[in-house]
Amino acid sequence: MAEPTTTPASEHQADVIVVGAGPAGSTTAYHLARAGLDVLLLEKTSFPREKVCGDGLTPRATKQLVAMGIDISEEAGWLRNKGLRIIGGGHRLQLDWPQLASYPDYGLVRKRDDFDEQLARQAQKAGARLYERCNVGDPILDRAGRITGVHARLGEEKTPVTFHAPVVVAADGNSTRLSLKMGLHRREDRPMGVAVRTYFTSPRHDDDYLESWLELWDRRGPQDRLLPGYGWIFGMGDGTSNVGLGILNSSSAFKELDWREVLKAWCASMPEEWGYTPENMTTTIRGAALPMAFNRQPHYTRGLLLVGDAGGLVNPFNGEGIAYAMESAQIAAEVIVQSHARSTPAQRELALRRYPKVLKDTYGGYYTLGRAFVKIIGNPKIMKIATERGLPHPVLMRFTLKMLANLTDPTGGDAMDRIINGLTKVAPRA
Ligand SMILES: Cc1cc2nc3c(=O)[nH]c(=O)nc-3n(C[C@H](O)[C@H](O)[C@H](O)COP(=O)(O)OP(=O)(O)OC[C@H]3O[C@@H](n4cnc5c(N)ncnc54)[C@H](O)[C@@H]3O)c2cc1C
Repeated sequence: MAEPTTTPASEHQADVIVVGAGPAGSTTAYHLARAGLDVLLLEKTSFPREKVCGDGLTPRATKQLVAMGIDISEEAGWLRNKGLRIIGGGHRLQLDWPQLASYPDYGLVRKRDDFDEQLARQAQKAGARLYERCNVGDPILDRAGRITGVHARLGEEKTPVTFHAPVVVAADGNSTRLSLKMGLHRREDRPMGVAVRTYFTSPRHDDDYLESWLELWDRRGPQDRLLPGYGWIFGMGDGTSNVGLGILNSSSAFKELDWREVLKAWCASMPEEWGYTPENMTTTIRGAALPMAFNRQPHYTRGLLLVGDAGGLVNPFNGEGIAYAMESAQIAAEVIVQSHARSTPAQRELALRRYPKVLKDTYGGYYTLGRAFVKIIGNPKIMKIATERGLPHPVLMRFTLKMLANLTDPTGGDAMDRIINGLTKVAPRA
């Protein structure tokens, strides 16, 4: 196999610049560095740092961690989960993650301050050059409008610096200033979620199932209305639980409600012995947006690739973002490595333009179904019927789990896998 040629690097020059060292950025940098490319990974904060999240990892995310060679043993402090417990409509159902050839049958939980640092250090170990406290500002463009580097402010002193590379990856999360500066705006026709969370010290801290509550109520009017979203309780294994909720923008209540208050009201309705009371809260309630179903496009333009939240990769069915951030990062890295080995600029550009196509082939149909799902459950009546009538049927719920968590075998799976794969194949890849 031919060794990829690497441009000789001065300190601020590289083959690729990756902006943002969340899961998407660190995974991109890791795979690029492993393939022998010279990578700059620029992160505005310094590790460890907080990131608002549920901290829950499904088997899809677990698979990505394995691919990066991260030690996910229990001795290394990871809490494993066997599946999902679903509560709603007076029912309580515990479903194990499916047995599949393509994914492990367990998920994980890890606080993001530590999780993100582990990924960034793994990228560094692979050879990526990480700059912390490096706040990226404007892109540097050539005459054709193609990105050739970025301006940044480095360190406590905020020293102005420039970094140069022929390819830049935007992994700077939902707000993605870099994409905006390249003229890539959010698609308003795509679903958006909002999620809030906090931590409590709790006897339920070592739960080995992720728990999801399908009933969140809007109790303002004469009649209570069921909201399109769910609440979660994830034991962290460290004496605390991460408790939060995520809501979709497909209901009229989306803009009107104070989500922190909805979370407080939900917690107040729980059994006292679980400990989800104000005095056990260890952090303030914090929230952020969930950009879903390709809400920023195109995913490649003029030397810039978008990965993770920057590209709106969150799964609209369940609000999961980490696995998709890491998977899109792996796809982007593979495309960049191939492009780097081409001999002419035109050939390199041709290879880079494959990235949006591969993303659409991988997720396009599934996300189209997810958009329809978001619209349907935005109707409180349908949400109520689905919760009350669906949960008593374990087979239907096993199917639902596979569908919502996107966990099937692409070939050789069971009948449920074949139905889900068939549906995602026929749905338009928009
Ligand atoms: C409340 C909540 C709960 C969630 N729960 C879950 C869950 O349980 N499981 C799950 O899978 N997903 C969950 N998500 C979604 C998940 O957090 C995101 O999808 C995921 O973090 C996306 O990773 P990313 O690397 O694309 O972006 P981020 O994690 O946002 O990382 C972006 C990085 O870029 C850096 N950055 C930003 N701007 C600049 C700049 N100008 N210069 C340099 N660096 C910059 C940031 O500091 C950050 O480190 C949740 C989200 C929320 C809001």
